Amino acid sequence: MNIGPAWEEHADVVVIGTGVGGLAAALAAHRAGRRVVVLSKAARKPGATATHYAQGGIAVVLPDTDDSVDAHVADTLAAGAGLCDVDAVTSIVADGYRAVSELVSDGAQFDESAAGGWALSREGGHSRRRIVHAGGDATGAEVQRALDLAAATLDIRIKHAALRLLHDTTSGTDAITGVLVADRRGIGIVHAPSVILATGGLGQLYGATTNPKGSTGDGIALALWAGAAVSDIEFIQFHPTMLYDGRAGRRRPLVTEAIRGEGAILVDSQGNSVTAGVHPMGDLAPRDVVAGAIDARLRALGDECVFLDARGIDDFGRRFPTVAAACQAAGIDPVRQPIPVAPGAHYSCGGVITDVCGRTELPGLFAAGEVARTGMHGANRLASNSLLEGLVVGGRAGRAAAEHAGLFGRTHATATVPADCGALGRDDLQRAMSRDASVVRDADGLHRLVDILSDAPAGLVTTRAGLEDAALTIAARAVATAALAREESRGCHHRAEYPSAATAPARSLIVRLADDCSPQVDELAAVS
Ligand SMILES: Cc1cc2nc3c(=O)[nH]c(=O)nc-3n(C[C@H](O)[C@H](O)[C@H](O)COP(=O)(O)OP(=O)(O)OC[C@H]3O[C@@H](n4cnc5c(N)ncnc54)[C@H](O)[C@@H]3O)c2cc1C
Repeated sequence: MNIGPAWEEHADVVVIGTGVGGLAAALAAHRAGRRVVVLSKAARKPGATATHYAQGGIAVVLPDTDDSVDAHVADTLAAGAGLCDVDAVTSIVADGYRAVSELVSDGAQFDESAAGGWALSREGGHSRRRIVHAGGDATGAEVQRALDLAAATLDIRIKHAALRLLHDTTSGTDAITGVLVADRRGIGIVHAPSVILATGGLGQLYGATTNPKGSTGDGIALALWAGAAVSDIEFIQFHPTMLYDGRAGRRRPLVTEAIRGEGAILVDSQGNSVTAGVHPMGDLAPRDVVAGAIDARLRALGDECVFLDARGIDDFGRRFPTVAAACQAAGIDPVRQPIPVAPGAHYSCGGVITDVCGRTELPGLFAAGEVARTGMHGANRLASNSLLEGLVVGGRAGRAAAEHAGLFGRTHATATVPADCGALGRDDLQRAMSRDASVVRDADGLHRLVDILSDAPAGLVTTRAGLEDAALTIAARAVATAALAREESRGCHHRAEYPSAATAPARSLIVRLADDCSPQVDELAAVS
């Protein structure tokens, strides 16, 4: 449907998202001298981004320590289970200290040790203490505060939902020409030669998630609808320890694994260790291993939660104030009683395929942060590597988008609102995904899920709510189709019928949409 837009504007670079990926990108493009417009579908309030909720910290190799880029790369590759892109990991890890230092120049303050210098903690899968943090377990809030402050003079439009990417279908280049946006005035266009997707994750595919309400996979959908491919999308990390308060359908507080790093232990309702004999790193094993062990124990005992016993940690309230506050709100005293916890959808390891500068296959389209798939995380993300990736690749994407805008100049897009690919209501979708595509999947469940999702009725996307339902539905179809095609267990993807990794060389899968909207799966390439 062609529409007469209610409003039109021009920019060099449009950034969609105001979390770590979006604001790092926006600042870099602005500092490169470009006219930047930043869109956020949310209102301006704490907690509108996943970034705000990050607890553990940022994994970064500090100079002149016993740590090294090689050691951090090795830990990342081990977690990624054969699907990381080694060059991408090395490039991003090696740039971490510079990017975090830039954030400090922008005003971020990280916790310091008694001896001076940043205090470093250790998290699951890391062989060294290399996690910088702020406010104890409130790192994300500090990162968001510093970025918000640095970006205060930028042109940030809240309550502006990006509905579609507009691109040039006539010249054969598919070059990006702008974004179709819904705000209180109606549907408008921001014309721009460079667009950066920084829309975050897709945890809202599931009823139990640590992600905020707006983590609905919009960037995945926008890219797929525009013809770009996504990869590793079946790898959704379930955080093993969300606070369990018995209430369904809300964002659930995360109980950071830094607490296990400080000695807390996971026990079941009988008081037995959950991870004993499962992995040499025990409770500090990679997240998929711990989530899988908890899931298995819950099924075996018919329980809804296990317990994290943190009673041995001194000064819990000061060291983990965010968790302490969440526990208090749920009526739990972690100093006196074990904390009830259960796994929940937490992080999308895959996303829109980009290089390490955020470039996608469509000229003028960039992606950074959780929406992107750089090859950093492979089949499973190492804890605290995502803020790192968001900062590093966000900054690079901003500079690359600024450069692209310089080459291509002013664009003029036509506003069309094509029919979406079908939308299921969020409650129904979350129920189906939680049942059929959660911690452990099988073919019967995934086939049932694919059928349910492909029957969702199509319509026109003209509002934020409509966009979110349509985005969740197409993202879910991509996840289900890739999960069905991956007949093995690898990283954070577990198939009941295939409990081990396949012996064939590890391959990333890519998904793109056919003309009838059906997701088509292919292999990305062999990973050495
Ligand atoms: C509870 C929790 C704890 C975590 N702890 C850590 C940690 O300790 N260390 C770590 O490295 N990582 C951690 N993570 C992961 C990390 O926080 C996220 O991966 C990262 O912050 C994502 O940043 P982002 O910029 O990609 O997206 P977000 O911060 O989620 O921002 C997304 C933005 O996109 C906007 N948006 C989305 N769709 C649209 C649209 N259609 N139109 C306009 N705007 C749109 C949203 O409004 C928002 O502004 C944690 C995540 C959670 C949820």
